[in-house]
Amino acid sequence: MNQAHQAWLPDLIYTDGRFRSGIALVCDSRGNIHGLVDAADAPNATRLAGRAMLPGLVNAHSHAFQRIIRGRTEYRSQNATDSFWTWREQMYAAATKLTPEEIYSISRMAFLEMALTGITAVGEFHYLHHAPDGSRYSDPNLLAHEVIRAANDVGIRIALLRVAYARAGYQVEPNPRQVRFIEESPDTYLTHLDQLLAVVDTNDGMAWAGVAPHSVRAVPLGYLKRIIAYANERQLPLHMHVAEQPAEVAACIEEYGRSPVALLDTEGLLSETFTAVHAIHVTPKAVTALARSGAGVCACPTTERNLGDGVVPADLYFNANVPISLGTDSQVQIDLLEDARELEYHLRLQKTERNVLARQNETSKSALAARLFECATVNGAKAIGLRGGGKLEPGAPADFFTVDLNDLSIAGASPDDLLANIVFSLSRTAIRDVVVNGKQIK
Ligand SMILES: [Zn+2]
Repeated sequence: MNQAHQAWLPDLIYTDGRFRSGIALVCDSRGNIHGLVDAADAPNATRLAGRAMLPGLVNAHSHAFQRIIRGRTEYRSQNATDSFWTWREQMYAAATKLTPEEIYSISRMAFLEMALTGITAVGEFHYLHHAPDGSRYSDPNLLAHEVIRAANDVGIRIALLRVAYARAGYQVEPNPRQVRFIEESPDTYLTHLDQLLAVVDTNDGMAWAGVAPHSVRAVPLGYLKRIIAYANERQLPLHMHVAEQPAEVAACIEEYGRSPVALLDTEGLLSETFTAVHAIHVTPKAVTALARSGAGVCACPTTERNLGDGVVPADLYFNANVPISLGTDSQVQIDLLEDARELEYHLRLQKTERNVLARQNETSKSALAARLFECATVNGAKAIGLRGGGKLEPGAPADFFTVDLNDLSIAGASPDDLLANIVFSLSRTAIRDVVVNGKQIK
């Protein structure tokens, strides 16, 4: 073992689809995994007794500032019925007030909570660009930089998915509460994105940028085509809210005669770097279109149940081999393993069946848990453009967390059913060490 190398020796390491004992994880000086070696070959390894090590969780969809309204929208408003749309007005009320310093502080709090619960990288869908009154800051990326600084101060990686937002909707009057988001033309958006790209891509891989047209509602087709072409030329991660609410689908059909996924598909805008966030209200044909293009879906079940959005048809996506990543979205809860289990649990409630996302005749009893865990790790890493992320193997980023094997929530697990214990039953307080880029942050 090289002097510059660091190593850790837990009781168990989750690698290559199973837990192995008697091996240490060795990290090189650049923050990548050098190898997994016999414990005897790593005499200086930090011993993590009573703990199991797993690859860091990747949160593919976050709006960090929404952490501030947690617990503050759970009452009946003046409206006859509350919905996503009435919640959105409450969320806007907070979004319109925050100063750059406050955005830094709230984001830092959200990212800290993520880090302490095993999240080592986040895709931040960032749409606050301007001052509260809509006037421009001298640096059009001032708030993006505040959010990136917050993530890096906590020590997690961040893909800043810079949002394009042009309008309130098709034939919808401008909403004064959206003035902080709006960049009317694709030229303005791309100029600002370029400025961000020029400075954000740090050599240590702790921050990078991607392109995020907000939704078909907020970005008209011509604009959308321009910025997607730009993202594709540069192979940047591309994220977009798609079919979160039935009203969004209806408005899209009214404007274009096609559903959001059909529009994206027929205009040739879907690709392997595209992530459709939510993608709840879709037809089997839309699932096929997403599968054909290689695009992924990001589900945010804890937020989706909170907002009354509906259930992501994860069974259809799994059957079509559309990779699903997970996001904490509104931050009502920050617990990515809860999102992983909800992906399955919502379908159980809907179908009054169990193990909906498991394949028939699967011999391994942890296959379902492994697939859900992949959503929280490998699929998330792919979605946000974290190369090689989400697994513990040589060359991958040295991002991991450990769990206390004696924690009440998983005590008594055997190596064979440990992953199912973790995915279905772990309390997030059982998470112990968190390491990102070879650096211990918890
Ligand atoms: Zn969102």
